Amino acid sequence: MKYILVIGDGMADNPVESLGGKTPLQYAKTPVLDALAAKGEVGAVKNCPDSLPAGSDTAILSIFGADPLNCYTGRSPLEAAATGIQLAPGEVSYRCNMVAYEDADKPFEQKKILSHSGGSIEGEESLTLISDLFANPTFAAAAEKAGMRVYPAPSFRHIAVQKDADIQGIQLLPPHDHLGEVIETLLPSGNQNATVLKELMKLAHSILDQHPINQERRHAGKLPANGVWFWAEGSAVILDSFVEKYHKTGTVISAVPLCHGIANLVGLSVTLVPGATGELDTNYEGKVEAALDALRSGQDFAAIHVEAPDECTHNGDLPGKLQAIEWLDSRVMKPLTEALAQEGMDYRLLVLSDHKTLTSTRGHDGEPVPYLLYDSRQDSKLGLPYSEASGEQGKQYANGAAVLMPMLFEQAVN
Ligand SMILES: [Zn+2]
Repeated sequence: MKYILVIGDGMADNPVESLGGKTPLQYAKTPVLDALAAKGEVGAVKNCPDSLPAGSDTAILSIFGADPLNCYTGRSPLEAAATGIQLAPGEVSYRCNMVAYEDADKPFEQKKILSHSGGSIEGEESLTLISDLFANPTFAAAAEKAGMRVYPAPSFRHIAVQKDADIQGIQLLPPHDHLGEVIETLLPSGNQNATVLKELMKLAHSILDQHPINQERRHAGKLPANGVWFWAEGSAVILDSFVEKYHKTGTVISAVPLCHGIANLVGLSVTLVPGATGELDTNYEGKVEAALDALRSGQDFAAIHVEAPDECTHNGDLPGKLQAIEWLDSRVMKPLTEALAQEGMDYRLLVLSDHKTLTSTRGHDGEPVPYLLYDSRQDSKLGLPYSEASGEQGKQYANGAAVLMPMLFEQAVN
């Protein structure tokens, strides 16, 4: 028996007026998903507890059976785990974004933040800037005093780790939510450690602003990556072993560090697929092949995560969201189920959205999402398509962490 999980990130939604009152899942052509739903079970499940932020971090923890109410400490430790960073007790990790502040002759606090990604800085440029910053004697001394070290990444998303860090009551805002705003009221606040982080950010700006790479970027008409921004704080997270809990081995196939980190923490392997981008142009076929290869080679379980529906919704790109859902159907579900049938593998399949991402707000929503459970040995003759409305007619689960994996693996819910 083989077990497959498919997550269409943020594909669930509310009815959209311009789609004639249908949701994107209802409007998009998804014949394969609908045929599976018709023979399987459709219900609704809540993956984001109300007391925590609705997002892929809390929702995907739930899907893999880790209750965020017991284990969630923040987003960055999950991402840190993707690169093998282990936090010691008392240590806190932060996302350390490269950002762009406006070029203006003003005090630091009066400047506006123009980009949460340092003008989409990538690769060597980003690695050089962050390494040079932490090698600068003045900054190095301040970072040392703050107990701060950095793990450079070849993108705008570095990870910083601070020893003996106090994050009680601290307020660190996501930079992408405040583009174009003056930073004075956005800078770290809430406790003494916030002042330390704010001073590091101010010092980083004074050093990075004149860096030759940023001078070149300005000449090339690009935004300078002239600052760093600490946010997404969290302490070490320990998750139960997936293998010990469910007695299944498996792999996770995704483009995003968050999923790789959760996989590492629960002890599942990660399969990297070339061309898996986390965007609409991702390598759908490559992900299917990777899942099939894992199952053929003796693994029990494969998870395919597709980020594109979520990204398109955040970008306000409704046609893109519809296309992402249709490609999930025609380029993931179709080849996957055809290959399994051809090779005579019995399987159980769970398909769901982690959380809703709303076309109306371009943001996340933690309300229940529809799940589809299919068993190749059975026909429920239910006859419903895969949609939010079908989900509402089926079983309702208030806590995905407790039920989803047992449901997939035909195990008793603890
Ligand atoms: Zn999202």
